[in-house]
Amino acid sequence: MELRAVRGMNDILPEEVERWHKLEGAFRLNAELHGYAEVRTPLLEPTELFRHQMGETTDVVEKEMYSFERHGDALTVRPEGTAGAARAYVEHAVHAKEPVTRWYYIGPMFRGERPAKGRYRQFYQAGCELFGDPGPLCDAETIDLIAGFLERIGIADFVVHVNSLGSAGTRERYREALLAHYTPRKDRLSEDSQRRLEKNPLRILDSKDPRDHEVSRDAPMILDLLDDADRAHWDGVLRCLDVLGVNYVIDRSLVRGLDYYTRTLFEVKATSGDLGSQSTLAGGGRYDNMVAGLGGPSVPAIGFAMGMERLLTLMPGDAPRRKPGCFLAPLGQVGADRALVLAKQLRALGVSVELDGRGGRLKSMLRRADAVGARLCVILGDSEIERGVLQIKDLAAHVQEEIPLEGAARVLADRALESSPGGGQRGAR
Ligand code: ATP
Ligand code: MG
Repeated sequence: MELRAVRGMNDILPEEVERWHKLEGAFRLNAELHGYAEVRTPLLEPTELFRHQMGETTDVVEKEMYSFERHGDALTVRPEGTAGAARAYVEHAVHAKEPVTRWYYIGPMFRGERPAKGRYRQFYQAGCELFGDPGPLCDAETIDLIAGFLERIGIADFVVHVNSLGSAGTRERYREALLAHYTPRKDRLSEDSQRRLEKNPLRILDSKDPRDHEVSRDAPMILDLLDDADRAHWDGVLRCLDVLGVNYVIDRSLVRGLDYYTRTLFEVKATSGDLGSQSTLAGGGRYDNMVAGLGGPSVPAIGFAMGMERLLTLMPGDAPRRKPGCFLAPLGQVGADRALVLAKQLRALGVSVELDGRGGRLKSMLRRADAVGARLCVILGDSEIERGVLQIKDLAAHVQEEIPLEGAARVLADRALESSPGGGQRGAR
């Protein structure tokens, strides 16, 4: 039987992981510059959490979740990060410790969707959640954080789509307006949308079915229904985005796939590259009612998540390959024992070391040292060790010399670290 990875789930091999590290490092740095600290929540959450927060009629909850029962608990492998973060925020009463909380996360999410380029069943998101600030300044700063991050990693071709969904009262009036629009046109909607019409007509606007697009074309727009407070908030967001110089468009038809959003809503879309209908790099918005909905106090919140695979497709440049500083090539038993000790000493001095313990011939070990990009190859021959010396070969300068065994680790470390900036030290990037 040939076993393969689960469809839509990818192995990420070490040569690709280097680029992931680069992306994650840039994200962490950027989030921390904005005052965010990392939070790690479980991959499994009670199914209830997603059903209630994301909404019963959303695609994710209706069709995409990996849910199962174990020991009497209904569990779901998280399809997104916001609901879990908000759950943790409430569970740990974080609101009582600080008025404003900024959390970021990086990790895998799971959705049983149809796989395509940029769409997987296990995919990675990096996201931020900000609790305790009603905006509108922080709404604009959140969007600008994403824009700044994309620029930092070399993605310049993108545009931010923004819209406002208003608060609960506005949403209710909008629901009525949509019902009035769609009900007489019900027959022309997709089956999914016909079914969702009564429960949640907003979903129809977010449908990917062309039949629904047609009927939605002249549907009422929520921006026209904002009340005064929503309108003031919305104007504030746009003003701050202008101050920050963010490249945005007002997208009156933007509604996103989840129920929990209120007021500010945004998506960042790539305008070049070949991601096709997977060109949305990030999505997010305000979710002012979630914390209270989870049994916490009334705390406003805003957040976003970015799809890491999609970013990697567009991120230019290679990550620097990590190379060992020293490659140790022992030629016999005495050399091998000595190499074990030398490798330990070098690593303690911060040098990355690869010891060739296969016991092959010198020629093949030298070839291997070259292939892994080592700066120095250390040849430990039994007779030389008995004479108290080692051979070192500088693989970049192509020179070979003999050094005393006594104090060799220090000499090698100095050379490996000084002569190859970033190359010798494992952690250096
Ligand atoms: P889409 O419309 O592309 O399905 P979405 O609205 O479902 O996206 P969100 O739930 O907002 O996506 O997730 C935020 C980001 O995570 C998306 O903009 C995208 O970059 C990424 N993402 C979402 N689903 C997937 C997936 N199945 N595979 C890879 N990336 C994904
Ligand atoms: Mg989706």
